[in-house]
Order: sequence, then structure tokens, then C-alpha cells
Amino acid sequence: MNNIPISVVTGGAGFLGSHLCDKLINNGHKVICLDNLITGSLENISHLFGNENFKFVKYDVTEFIHIEGRVDNILHFASPASPIDYLKLPIQTLKVGSLGTHKALGLAKAKGARFLLASTSEVYGDPEIHPQPESYWGNVNPIGPRGVYDEAKRFAEALTMAYHRYHGVDTRIVRIFNTYGPRMRLNDGRVLPTFIGQALKGEDLSVFGNGSQTRSFCFVDDLIEGIFRLLNSDFKDPINIGNPDEITILEFAQEVLKFTKSKSKIAFKELPVDDPKVRQPDVSLAKKILDWEPKVSRSEGIKITIDYFKNKIKD
Ligand code: UDP
Repeated sequence: MNNIPISVVTGGAGFLGSHLCDKLINNGHKVICLDNLITGSLENISHLFGNENFKFVKYDVTEFIHIEGRVDNILHFASPASPIDYLKLPIQTLKVGSLGTHKALGLAKAKGARFLLASTSEVYGDPEIHPQPESYWGNVNPIGPRGVYDEAKRFAEALTMAYHRYHGVDTRIVRIFNTYGPRMRLNDGRVLPTFIGQALKGEDLSVFGNGSQTRSFCFVDDLIEGIFRLLNSDFKDPINIGNPDEITILEFAQEVLKFTKSKSKIAFKELPVDDPKVRQPDVSLAKKILDWEPKVSRSEGIKITIDYFKNKIKD
């Protein structure tokens, strides 16, 4: 019994954090989930209540984290993560990326635990290299509205590498590209739940700018599998996990209309400041190091997600 891995997931009640808790529990871990619930939700983890291998603690990880006993892994996923959320919560976003990462790394050092940082494709900003390999240093506006998230995550990567180099902490960094699936919030402002919600309610789909900007969407199960493989690898440098299947936002709106069989129209709205014009992960490193590549196509993943949101809207 004693060698069951014990893993702490910060932000464990969020979209990605909750799927990660499931994955770890299904693979024989005990999970301690920390979340202050500012963007996470108990609904995402309610199915785990009563499981003897799962414990939830409502906690703000920008404060000193104390956990009794052994801890083997710390997966730091706490942060507002959609542009709307981090524009609403700019200081909290900066704090959890900086102070929160510091506290989580401090815990890893004290416990001799492995640490995995949830970083982001936003470290590449509005990229001048396409697709984006991990070797690209990025093009981020530090003082623009998105800077609160991008710079917090860049700082978090720097701090993680410093703890690795100077304190010998066993670290991993995943750069997560646009991900979607069940447990996203309909109103988190991200393009996929927004379009699906609008299409299901018969409202106009709000395409920002002329919709020529691109994104590449990864289904959550694929992403979580990649992260789990990274955790179990010995790879220390940042690694992209995402689906390279790139699409313009306008084409994506048309695809959502088709899959929902909606009669909604498209309405063009103002493009947000510093909105990246293109984004596509170069996943050759993940293929090579983790033997990982995405398996779920956008059409399969979107159908699953549409069914999830249909039920949400009914409730
Ligand atoms: N977007 C859009 N309509 C919306 C929400 C987003 O056209 O209602 C666009 C947004 O301008 C961006 C892309 O969709 O170009 C993806 O935005 P999202 O907020 O999902 O995340 P990002 O990839 O920008 O972090």
C-alpha cells in the first residue's frame, strides 16, 4: 500500500485539472486536489467525492502550502486560463503564475517530489515562426492585456528551470495549446464553448476580426494522455502538447454551424488587442520523446463536446 504515488494537483477543480485528477486516480494514484474555485467548479470533481484516493481542499495556492506526509508529484494547473477570465482577474493571474508557482515548487523541494508545470502556447505570444517549435522564444507584449497571463507563465517556466538547476528539483514543463472538451464552461469566453453555445441557442456566432486568424484545437483526452506520459518521462525541457490540425476561426464557425445543424448567422466583432494571428504546435518533440500524438479528430471531439453542452443548456 505504501508505494501508491501521492499526487497534488493545483487547480484540480478546473477544466484540465479535473481531467488530470481522473487520469491519475485511474492509474492508481492518490490525489490531493487544491483549488480556490475562482474559475474551477466542484461540479467537475463531484464524481470523485467518496473515492478514498481523492481529497479536495479549497485553497489559494498563492499562500504557503502545507501538506502532511509524503508527496510524490505536484502538478501545478491553477490559473485563470481563458482570455476573458484573465482579463477579469489580472492580478490573481499574475499571482498564481508567480507566487503560486513559487509555493508549489517550494513544496516540491521540501518533499523531494516531482513537479510538473502547466505552461502554455501563450509563451510564444503572436508568433513570428510557424508552426511553433519549443526552441522559439516568442513574441509577447509584456504590457498588453494578455501580458498578465503570458508573462506569468513565462516567469513560471523560468522559476521552474531555476528550481531544477539550483535546487535539483525534478521538473517537467508542458506547453499546452488550445484544448477543448467536456467540463469547459459555456461562458468562459473561449471560442469553442462560445460558438457552440451560440449555435445551440440560435444566436449569432461572434467571429472576432475577419476570422482569418488560426488556432489548432486538441481534444482534452489526447492532451491529458500527453501530460501523463511527460510526467512519467525524464524530459526536463519544455514540450508542446497540442493538435497540429489548424483552422481559421471563420472556417471553425462554419464547422460548428454544420455539426450543430444550427441556423445561426455569423456576426463579425472587433478583434481583441494582441490576438495571435496564427497558432499551431510543432509536436515533433512529443512524438520523439513521449511517442505521443493526438488521436481524436476535431469532428469526433466536437460531437462529444456538443453533446456535453446540450445537456448543460438543458439543466
Ligand atoms: N474568438 C472569436 N469569437 C469569440 C471568442 C474568440 O472569434 O467569441 C477568436 C479569438 O479572437 C481568437 C480565437 O477565437 O482569435 C481563439 O480565442 P480563445 O479565446 O478561444 O483563445 P486564445 O487562443 O486566443 O487564447
